[in-house]
Amino acid sequence: MASQAASSANPVAEYDAIIIGAGISGMYQLLSLRRLGLSVHVFEAGTGVGGVWYWNRYPGARFDSESWSYGYGFDKDLLAEWEWSENFAAQPETLRYLNHVADRFDLRRDISFKSRVKAARYDESANLWRIELEDGRRAAARFLVSAVGPLSAPVMPKYEGMASFAGEAYHTGLWPHEPVEFSGKRVAVIGTGATGVQLIQEVAKSAAQLTVFQRSPNWCAPLNNSPIDAAEQQRLKRELPDIIARCNASFAGFIHEADRRSVFDVTPAERAAVFEQLYAAPGFGIWLGNFRDTLLDEKANAELSRFVADKIRGRVNDPALAEKLIPTNHGFGTRRVPMETGYYEVYNQPNVQLVDISATPIARITPRGIETAEREFEFDMICYATGFDAVLGSLNRIDVRGPGGRALKDSWAAGPRTYLGLQPEGFPNFFTLVGPHNAASFCNIPRCIEQNVEWVRDLVAYMQANGLTRIEPRSEAVEAWTQHVLDGVEKLLFSKVNSWFMGVNPNIPGRQQRHFLLYAGGLPLYRKRCDEEAASGYGNFVLS
Ligand code: NAP
Repeated sequence: MASQAASSANPVAEYDAIIIGAGISGMYQLLSLRRLGLSVHVFEAGTGVGGVWYWNRYPGARFDSESWSYGYGFDKDLLAEWEWSENFAAQPETLRYLNHVADRFDLRRDISFKSRVKAARYDESANLWRIELEDGRRAAARFLVSAVGPLSAPVMPKYEGMASFAGEAYHTGLWPHEPVEFSGKRVAVIGTGATGVQLIQEVAKSAAQLTVFQRSPNWCAPLNNSPIDAAEQQRLKRELPDIIARCNASFAGFIHEADRRSVFDVTPAERAAVFEQLYAAPGFGIWLGNFRDTLLDEKANAELSRFVADKIRGRVNDPALAEKLIPTNHGFGTRRVPMETGYYEVYNQPNVQLVDISATPIARITPRGIETAEREFEFDMICYATGFDAVLGSLNRIDVRGPGGRALKDSWAAGPRTYLGLQPEGFPNFFTLVGPHNAASFCNIPRCIEQNVEWVRDLVAYMQANGLTRIEPRSEAVEAWTQHVLDGVEKLLFSKVNSWFMGVNPNIPGRQQRHFLLYAGGLPLYRKRCDEEAASGYGNFVLS
């Protein structure tokens, strides 16, 4: 049971475990630790559950994982009772699903909403984590679990005059709960990543005028979404446990697995037929289910990039505009592929224009709109789809301090140092679900989240059973894991390109150098390493 320590008017609530964040990972971690008999409490900044699906409520937000492969798989009844309406569901449906899960397992009684964690300090003498919320409330626990998500620290660009803009301005990751009306308005969208691409398609439907400010084009591919009819629902219900098991055994938790052949094992005609089939198929197949060397070998990748470039040329009426939409500084799939439904055709509409800000950079934001090196554009609304301080940002925005007051942020200033991406070096009893160097950040995320959560649950159970109260990874294990992670990305073309995968964010000082933040060894190898660790009695940790 939770207890109230301290005598002052500001009592400190004490728990066995505190979880930061009530998204997909925080919700399941709460349930799994509660089932061990621990007193657990979740502090969540938002007013509801859902994490990334709670915050990213911009029009157009939807899955690009197959809906039915995305839900929790840990409970067969939950799996059987939920029906997704589309193969790639829109954000409101996903948020309804996560609220359903919260109701079904009575999670809310252990969650404090509107509770943003400001600081977390490890109290060595008591072997407790002491946390402080922004409003001054305090709490303490033996175990601290970060479930803050890898894409939850929105980043605004730093343009002069941003505060002076007289119209509406939104970041996609902090989209208002009230409806935002585009109809009849002159709207700017800055950013053409996976978010911008989804938003642009929606805004173009009703805005009087949409102006897209593109710094770098991305390679996008058709989502090929469709509704799920009654017969398909029945088939899914029968097959879902197997599908989930297959995803769990796949490289990145998806139903898509790479074709074992090389691009060059087949004739040009066969290759074109495979590319055509993947371009017409739903989801990430063209990215993750393609010939095995498309993400490894520049020549193989060039074949695929050429194919997709021709598709773009075929879909955009103005040839000069089509060229602006085709990336030239990286190959297809070497950054996260935005999935689209009519994205390129948007640029054939008379109400849509593209401003290539690599040629005419934004100089400033003015009260009326956006001024580039060439001219001023007037707007009623500016939408910033400018992304996140990925993976590290949501943790760095909390003042996490370990023994001796050492700041987490400083400890990985030269790149994250963790063991298994689950515990940073030197921070006892602190676990990072979907943390840096963890397979879950390059994954159909709930598949990997379940692995992360269950591993932490089993570790805590082991500690309870053995009367242990403190755990931290050994330095040599951290060193070896960090090297394993960095070696693993070297062979991938990802490593040659700037992206959030590689920790590069031009909007953040000190984040211009590539430093891989994910794990590229794949879920099966990652799971094996984690399982071996548990089976060895957690030999790479110091337990006391
Ligand atoms: P992102 O991929 O980082 O893209 C940010 C965009 O904003 C880029 O086009 C970037 O241009 C541009 N930008 C940033 N700063 C700018 C500046 N100062 N001036 C002009 N342009 C600027 O962020 P995101 O699109 O939000 O996506 C992040 C990740 O979220 C995705 O990769 C994906 O993993 C996830 N996501 C998932 C879904 C889904 O599952 N359905 C949907 C959306 C997003 P540069 O490329 O030139 O830097």
